[in-house]
Amino acid sequence: MPARIIDGKAVAADLRGKVTDAVQRLARDHGLVPGLAVVLVGSNPASEVYVANKTKTTLGSGMRSFDHRLPETTSAAELLALVQRLNADPAVHGILVQLPLPAQIDAQEVIASIDPAKDVDGLHPINSGRLAAGLPALAPCTPLGCVILAKTVHPSLKGVDAVVIGRSALVGKPLAQLLLAEDATVTIAHSKSRDLPALCRRADLVFAAVGRAEMVGKSWIKPGATVIDVGINRLSGPDGKSRIVGDVAFAEVSEVAGAITPVPGGVGPMTIACLLANTLRAACMSAGLPPEI
Ligand code: NAP
Repeated sequence: MPARIIDGKAVAADLRGKVTDAVQRLARDHGLVPGLAVVLVGSNPASEVYVANKTKTTLGSGMRSFDHRLPETTSAAELLALVQRLNADPAVHGILVQLPLPAQIDAQEVIASIDPAKDVDGLHPINSGRLAAGLPALAPCTPLGCVILAKTVHPSLKGVDAVVIGRSALVGKPLAQLLLAEDATVTIAHSKSRDLPALCRRADLVFAAVGRAEMVGKSWIKPGATVIDVGINRLSGPDGKSRIVGDVAFAEVSEVAGAITPVPGGVGPMTIACLLANTLRAACMSAGLPPEI
């Protein structure tokens, strides 16, 4: 039987709807309107598209959006000064500095300068440390989205055997921590792992966050397992047109998996929805309120 397709667009729309309802309640009951500041330095075309989408979705949820566009030549000191102003601004509950940054700016220094309570990208060392320690933390949006998608198939992840391929600070590591917090048994694989296909074949849940087009094949997947594909890779076809594919060979893996996310339309839409959820959470925390969702 072909795999069930996990519809990331629908799950993301549902989450955005919950955030929108919660934003209305916060405004009505507490006079609090969550605000997200997005900082874009330079004119990377992909980043421009991401930022435009974030702004549109933020406004669509009823939150305030504060866009800051800085030239490619911006110095580290100028960007750090802007972050300090946003840290101090009570209307701003979430700060996102779009990566990558131009070469003259140290991204780690900028991330570390963001108030951890406003770090809706979840990349500040305090938040990654809290996540690793099992304490409440703002976690990165893409891994949060992956866990929500996995739970549409496995409402409880307790005892589930999960393999995460990739150990980046942005996806693989925080994803593994989130899964551990859900009581899954987690294996983190990477470029030096031995016999990756055999590691994956043991798993009930495989997350691919590698950045290698269609690397995960049918023979890697246990029949009935769930496959969450984080990869975004551009391939050019014989007609010269390019298409986006994931890290999983979707067509063949669909023949054996129990459930699978498509690319596009799987993990991608969840990332912005989780950014809104994190901003809502940061706004609630700033007012000493419990998380709304
Ligand atoms: P990254 O920082 O490049 O990390 C890739 C990871 O994959 C590394 O840990 C690397 O291992 C591992 N790896 C590379 N080649 C491998 C191989 N042959 N076998 C096993 N592991 C291998 O990438 P990332 O930021 O985590 O992103 C991963 C993918 O997700 C990319 O395609 C990216 O575009 C996509 N992504 C999507 C979203 C979304 O919203 N859908 C968000 C973020 C990222 P080492 O550590 O040993 O080098």
